[in-house]
Amino acid sequence: MVAEVEAMYVETRGLTGLPALSPRVHAALGKVDRHRLVPAGQRALAYRNHPLPIGQGQTISQPYIVALSTDLIMPAPHHRVLEVGTGSGYQAAVLAEIVASVFSIEIIEVLGKEAAQQLKKLGYGNIQIRIGDGYQGWPEQAPFDAIVVTAAASRVPEALLAQLKPGGRMVIPVGASGETQELLLIVKTAEGRLATKSVLPVRFVPLLPGR
Ligand code: SAH
Repeated sequence: MVAEVEAMYVETRGLTGLPALSPRVHAALGKVDRHRLVPAGQRALAYRNHPLPIGQGQTISQPYIVALSTDLIMPAPHHRVLEVGTGSGYQAAVLAEIVASVFSIEIIEVLGKEAAQQLKKLGYGNIQIRIGDGYQGWPEQAPFDAIVVTAAASRVPEALLAQLKPGGRMVIPVGASGETQELLLIVKTAEGRLATKSVLPVRFVPLLPGR
C-alpha cells in the first residue's frame, strides 16, 4: 500500500508540489492497522490504495488522499489538529501517530462511536471524538495548528477559518457534491491573512448539513 501511495506521489508531483512522502507520514502509514478500522467484510481489501465503504453511505478515504492531506498540513509532534469527518478513524489514527492531539468530529453517531471504540482498542490515547456538526468546528478546543476536512464542502466554513492558529494550515475539498471538487490548502499567515492554493481535483462524499 505504501509503495502504491509513493507511486501516486510521483505521478501527481507536478500538481501537488510534493515529490515524495515525508518520512513522518511514511512511518505513520506503515504503523496504522488499517484492517482494524474497516468493516470486517472489507478487511481483505484494507491495504489497497482505494476508498472503501464503511456503512451509512460513507467511505474510508483512499490512503493516497489521507497521506497527501497529512503531508499538506506539515504536521509536527507538538501540534493539535482538528479533523472534520471521523468516519472509520483512519485519518485520525495517521495524524495521531505524528501529532500531540487529534480532535475529530463526526455527524453520524454510530460511525463516531465505532471509530472511538476501535481507536481505543488500538491504543490511541491522544484522539478525542465528538458527535456533532463539523461546520461549527470545536470552539472549546480551538485554536488548532491544522485542520483536515475529509468531506466535501460547498464553501469554506467561516468557523473553521476562525479556529485556525496564525501560521496554521487547513486542507479541505471544496465544490459541489457528486462532482469533482478541488482539494484546497489554506494557510493563515502570522498576520492572520489567508492564502489559498488549489492542490488537485478530488472526489469526496459531501459534508452533511447539521441539524
Ligand atoms: N476521515 C475519514 C473519512 C470519512 S468520509 C476516514 O479516515 O475514514 C467523511 C465523513 O464525514 C463521514 O463519516 C461523514 O459521516 C462525516 N460527515 C459528513 N458531514 C459531516 C459534518 N457536517 N460534520 C462532521 N462529520 C461529517
